Amino acid sequence: MSLAIQNIIPVIHAKWFGKDESCVIDNVSIDSRSLQNNNGTLFFALVGQHHDGHQYLSELIEKGVRNFVVHHVPEKLADQANFLVVDNTLEALQEFAAFYRRQFDFPVIGITGSNGKTIVKEWLNFLLSPEYNIIRSPKSYNSQVGVPLSVIGINEKHNLGIFEAGISLVGEMERLGHIIQPTLGVLTNIGSAHNEGFASETEKIQQKLKLFENAPVVILQKNDVIEAFLKPGTKAFTWSFDDASAEVLITKKTASSFEIRHKNETFTVTLPFHDKASEENSITCLMVLLYFGYEVQTIQERLVHLYPVEMRLQVKNGINHCTLIDDSYSSDYQSLKIALDFLEQHKTHKKKTVILSDIFQSGFTAEELYSKVAKLLKNNHIERVFGIGDNISAYLKDYPNFIPFATTQEFVAHFNPNEFEYETILIKGARSFQFEEIVVLLEEKTHETVLEINLNAISHNLNFYKSKLKPTTKMMAMVKAFGYGSGSFEIAKLLAHHKIDYLGVAFADEGIALRNAGITMPIIVMNPENSAFAAMVAYQLEPEIYSASVLKKFIALAQQKNLYNYPIHLKLDTGMHRLGFEEKDLDELIGLLKNNNLVEVKSIFSHLSSSDVPEFREFTLGQIQKFDVWSSKLISALNIEPIRHILNTSGIYNFAEYQFDMVRLGIGLYGVGNDAEEMQQLENVGTLKTIILQIKDIPTGDSVGYSRKFRAEKPIRTATIPIGYADGIPRRWGNEKGYVLVNHQKARIVGNICMDMLMIDVTNIACEEGDTVTVFGKSPRVTELAEVVGTIPYEILTSISHRVKRVFYKE
Ligand SMILES: *Cc1c(COP(=O)(O)O)cnc(C)c1O
Repeated sequence: MSLAIQNIIPVIHAKWFGKDESCVIDNVSIDSRSLQNNNGTLFFALVGQHHDGHQYLSELIEKGVRNFVVHHVPEKLADQANFLVVDNTLEALQEFAAFYRRQFDFPVIGITGSNGKTIVKEWLNFLLSPEYNIIRSPKSYNSQVGVPLSVIGINEKHNLGIFEAGISLVGEMERLGHIIQPTLGVLTNIGSAHNEGFASETEKIQQKLKLFENAPVVILQKNDVIEAFLKPGTKAFTWSFDDASAEVLITKKTASSFEIRHKNETFTVTLPFHDKASEENSITCLMVLLYFGYEVQTIQERLVHLYPVEMRLQVKNGINHCTLIDDSYSSDYQSLKIALDFLEQHKTHKKKTVILSDIFQSGFTAEELYSKVAKLLKNNHIERVFGIGDNISAYLKDYPNFIPFATTQEFVAHFNPNEFEYETILIKGARSFQFEEIVVLLEEKTHETVLEINLNAISHNLNFYKSKLKPTTKMMAMVKAFGYGSGSFEIAKLLAHHKIDYLGVAFADEGIALRNAGITMPIIVMNPENSAFAAMVAYQLEPEIYSASVLKKFIALAQQKNLYNYPIHLKLDTGMHRLGFEEKDLDELIGLLKNNNLVEVKSIFSHLSSSDVPEFREFTLGQIQKFDVWSSKLISALNIEPIRHILNTSGIYNFAEYQFDMVRLGIGLYGVGNDAEEMQQLENVGTLKTIILQIKDIPTGDSVGYSRKFRAEKPIRTATIPIGYADGIPRRWGNEKGYVLVNHQKARIVGNICMDMLMIDVTNIACEEGDTVTVFGKSPRVTELAEVVGTIPYEILTSISHRVKRVFYKE
């Protein structure tokens, strides 16, 4: 991209407040944290429910960004940069993208539907790339922001676009259609995803079809209702399993082969999948190939090679304390940019290394491409780059600390584990390079049981609770007990990224571990032990002070260390009767703090004992009332302005009107609410998975497991899975109380749960050794498990043993 700033002004209907009209824009950004921002960046200050890009303008100016699209010019910065003032920065971004799209005249495929958009997009890219130079949406960038950013990636060398569009509200698709301007529409299917935003099924269909307003042809599964809604000028190119009036009739012949009848031709294709969704998505792709006039033989050859699409960037523990970011299935310029931003957000070590394969279909010449790649790597402070492939090896050879390999096999042959330690490593390669072999070498070896943590779900849950609060209310996130069992650094990183105000931990060592992982935000230690005070000060951890004796000891230390205004947090006991000052203690407390400048009361708080129990509503209101009165007394006696806070997760949900200045979010962040209605609004965060080790046929009368607790009354088939009470599975869950999921079906637990294993009944479930087993996740939720064994989800989550590997991912 290379556009004069002056030409952009009329496109987005902006008012110009600037001085340098000669600026040329070569990239667009909406993320102030991206290390890719520079003097050629046009920064759109987007404003969301929980976020305002205008906050970061001075920071960006310092980093060299010169051109901004904003709602208003910040007074202090008026003469320091060019400002393009618009009414709505998101609409301006969309208009800009639509304008940019119009500069190019090549076929563009627009994909929408309820499921399968990203898979179909990735497969089409794979199927069509031998003939075309393709620009496609990176990952699943299909939203109001993602689509414009995808389209802006087009350059002169591209000759085919594939963009996906997803909507959840009425009116959104029209804008996406305006930006994508598809010349071929693809409708994957209409399912139930995102139904809430629409009045009816019909409305949803009509809205989705807005993507195709100006598309001459739309590919879809034959459906008269949908076709009736297409614009008169739009032709439907349809397929069907049973309706012979479709242009393409598909008949399933065997488990994997299908007969295709198109015009006068009949042929067979083989698909490498057995599930219905993959079959339908493959057929959608086949339709595009037919529409593009591909020969039968080519279609047959390519479809067999379709592969499962991994859409997530995964964070894994590596050998020698490394952290891995596994993006081993794709390599293109757009997604490299995203992966580098992700690397910056999730690095647990300062040192960053990238292992990168040749990049295909960038649309640039090799020379242009790799000079751009080198610039990108340099801006992102990548210390070391392993390049795999002939092109990258040749063109990146001057990058400092560049290590070339011709092939993945060569890298594997020369691999020395000692060359990797205490660094964050991005592994990113085109599929053909099979970088999964590299991931295997660098990944920490553990057993097959993993707790997968969905980082998107944490963000979603955070935003859900934020939406219950005033925008000015601060947020403390509780990451005690290893982030409620979900992992602390990775979650703390994500929370830092969301600009949370405070982190809360239980003990000093948890806070120290976070500091060592590079977390710089304020951290409160809830149970400070006297012995840890000195270490806390060394690591800038802020103590909860709950009694006069603790305060005296801390003040003594502050004196000894010459501290000035060291932040402390006063805990009041308004009814929980765990820790805290009571009413009778307040005068002494005031006496100790009056005229004391060694410490500063940063916040005053209390904890609710029963915010989740409706019958104790009055009691809770009483706690809040006491908190208000007591904290007011301290504030006026000491003449201070502390942050006041009392609400935990269920407090936010049930008593949001008492949010004071801050809230302390715990379990809700991890996807657990205190009733079914609240749970509905949250996304599941942790999925505990394992695999089947062995399958056995048990004859009538035989027993299974210790103490012969289970006896087969008829012949059954069992599977043994490597997870037991030492992993945190409650033993009380055994003996047919609990169940796990195998291939989406319930398998009850038979016999006693062992230390490291348990046995399940798979008599009526098709499964094999090695198949995945879900212990809890989206279904069954951890709350179900907790209920069966008579405990609370907090206990289950925090008991998952550390030997269970945590794997973090982002969609
Ligand atoms: C753990 C804790 C919280 C968070 O509670 P949730 O119920 O998990 O939201 C809040 N405040 C204090 C003092 C805590 O110890």
